[in-house]
Amino acid sequence: MENGGGKPVAAGRWHFGVNSALTKISDISIRPVLNMVMANIPEDGLRPVPLGHGDPSVFPCFRTTSVAEDAIVDAVRSAKFNCYASTVGILPARRALAEYLSRDLPYKLSPDDIFLTGGCTQAIEILLSALVRPGANILLPRPGFPFYEARAAFCGLEARHFDLVPEKGWEIDLEAVKALADENTVAMVVINPGNPCGNVFTYQHLAEVAETAKGLGIAVIADEVYDHLVFGSNPFVPMGIFGTTVPVFTVGSISKRWVVPGWRLGWIATNDPTGVFRETKVVDNITTLLNITTDPATFIQGAIPHILQNTKDDFFKKTIDTLKKTADICWDKLKEIDCVTCPHKPEGSMFVMVKLDLSQLEDINDDIDFCSKLAKEESVVILPGGAVGLKNWLRVTFAVDPSSLEEGLDRLKSFCQRHANKIK
Ligand SMILES: *Cc1c(COP(=O)(O)O)cnc(C)c1O
Repeated sequence: MENGGGKPVAAGRWHFGVNSALTKISDISIRPVLNMVMANIPEDGLRPVPLGHGDPSVFPCFRTTSVAEDAIVDAVRSAKFNCYASTVGILPARRALAEYLSRDLPYKLSPDDIFLTGGCTQAIEILLSALVRPGANILLPRPGFPFYEARAAFCGLEARHFDLVPEKGWEIDLEAVKALADENTVAMVVINPGNPCGNVFTYQHLAEVAETAKGLGIAVIADEVYDHLVFGSNPFVPMGIFGTTVPVFTVGSISKRWVVPGWRLGWIATNDPTGVFRETKVVDNITTLLNITTDPATFIQGAIPHILQNTKDDFFKKTIDTLKKTADICWDKLKEIDCVTCPHKPEGSMFVMVKLDLSQLEDINDDIDFCSKLAKEESVVILPGGAVGLKNWLRVTFAVDPSSLEEGLDRLKSFCQRHANKIK
């Protein structure tokens, strides 16, 4: 196998070896960074507190609704979903999703606007690949979700970054977006509610995003994997509302709202009432790509209509109440810690970004050093901000049960006190 510069990459008598296209991106991902941090946890140490990644499904207070569990069991027992699914997903599931997403829109989506994927992850993967052409670039938020960078690098799409501005509640710097874009820019990514910042964009800001993208002739990729997970003053506004201004690809999944990331069901929705995506044939690329990948398990697809139609509001309310409570705990406890500042109270998703003040710490070099020592001394896992694009910040998830969160943040506080600069 030849690679990169055309030189054989494997040494010795074997013809296979490392792929340099993959080495380039092997560290642009949350998981390896978290694994590196977690490797510092001593085996006989305190009970680990995971504030690093957003998967609260392990905590009883975040268990999914029995409506969803029963829907899966019934789908399996019916023996109707043991077959292969169709390329874009089975019709009843796409129809149910079109109805579910249309509830929040001023127009109706059709089942043909919905493409089922293996979680939101595969939706992103397919979309970026569908948008590639020679020399193309995509605009990504910083801080952001590094899977976009990794996939863009892998499929040969140049990534350019615009800032989210902490002093403005992490709003997008739209002037930067305009300055970055050129005739090769295909799309910009908007993650709302935000990971990693826990912000929720206002209607007004999203309207400006739509006008900006329209002016630049680019699509919007709206990552709404945290749809409806909001608990501040801003309601959740789907980007698709602005579909007549600018065509929008919405990506989402049941992973976060139903707290079942292991079920691997996500989607791409084309919010495009004026038909730009069909005219430009970019939807044909999506179908072609889905043809050469595998599908979400058919019985999960089979359960989707039931899950979407019958989940009770009290389940959603319970999840949101818990997140609101844990976000409050997080905000209050972080305020008590001298060496960190939190510019914006989280209003959605499961995360908050916290700035480290290294000048107040005695023997800490950077965010990675901070998180590694914290794991070693306190068995608390936090993600170094560098992993999401902001060096010397931290991303803390509050989607854990309240007592573990309190304990984790108390340990964070004593860690900071222990390492505080004595000579002031
Ligand atoms: C979790 C997450 C995803 C991936 O979602 P899955 O459905 O688990 O694949 C995509 N985007 C963001 C911003 C996320 O936080």
